[in-house]
Amino acid sequence: MTLTEDHLQLADLNALGPEDLLRWAYERHGSRAGIVTSFQNTGCVMIDMASRAAPGLRVLTVDTLRLHQETYDLIAQLEERYGIAIERFQPDPDAVENMVQRHGEYLFFDSKAKQEYCCNIRKVQPNERALGTVDVWITGLRRDQSEYRSNIKKADVIKRGERTLLKLCPLADWTEADVWSYIRTHGTPYNSLYDKGYTSIGCVICTTPTLPGEDKRAGRWRWFNHLEGDNKECGIHMGGGGI
Ligand code: SF4
Repeated sequence: MTLTEDHLQLADLNALGPEDLLRWAYERHGSRAGIVTSFQNTGCVMIDMASRAAPGLRVLTVDTLRLHQETYDLIAQLEERYGIAIERFQPDPDAVENMVQRHGEYLFFDSKAKQEYCCNIRKVQPNERALGTVDVWITGLRRDQSEYRSNIKKADVIKRGERTLLKLCPLADWTEADVWSYIRTHGTPYNSLYDKGYTSIGCVICTTPTLPGEDKRAGRWRWFNHLEGDNKECGIHMGGGGI
C-alpha cells in the first residue's frame, strides 16, 4: 500500500457500503487486509458479510486468555459456520508471568495505570503483532458506541508507530438497531453475552452488563466509572492517528 494511492481514494472509500468496502479491501490487498475482531456484534456482521463479499478475507483476534467461555464458544461456532480459521494472537507468556508475579492476577482493580498495563500486555501488544501482518486494518467500530468514537471515519489513513495503515470501519455509520436487524435477518451467530445484558464484550471480570440508558461501554472496568475523563478504551484503538 502506498500512502498516496490510498489518500487519493479515501473519499471514494468513505462513500462505499460495508460489503463493497470489504470486497475492495480483499481484492485490492488480499492477505494484507484483515478483519480484526473481539467478537462484538459488529465483528460477527462483518464476518457474515465477508463470507459472501470477500470469501478468503482474513479474520484475526486477540485472545487475552481471559475471555468469557461464551466468546470462545462463539469463535468455534463462527469457524464452523463459515469454514474459516480465525487467527489468534495471544500475549507473551513471559510478560504475563512477570506481570502477575509482580502485581497479582487481579492488578486491574488497583489503579487505572495497572489496568492499562494489563491491557497493554494482554491486548495491545498481541494486537500490534496482528497489525504487523496487515496493511488494511478492518474493525467494527461505530460512531454510536461512545462519545470517544463519535467521529470515526469509514476509511482513514493512520500512523501506527513508524508504519502507515489504512483503517476501515465499514459499519461506522450503523446504529445498534441496524446491527441487530442484520443479525436477525441473516441468522448471524453472535455472542450470547448480549442476551445476558452485556452491550460490549471484553475480558472476564473487566466486562459487566450495562443498564438501560448507560453508555454501551459503561460495563468496561466499571469500578473506574467515577473517574473524570476515563474514555473506556483499552489502548488498541488509541495512539498513532486517532482511534
Ligand atoms: S480487560 Fe482486564 S483482564 Fe483484559 S487485558 Fe484489560 S485489564 Fe487485563
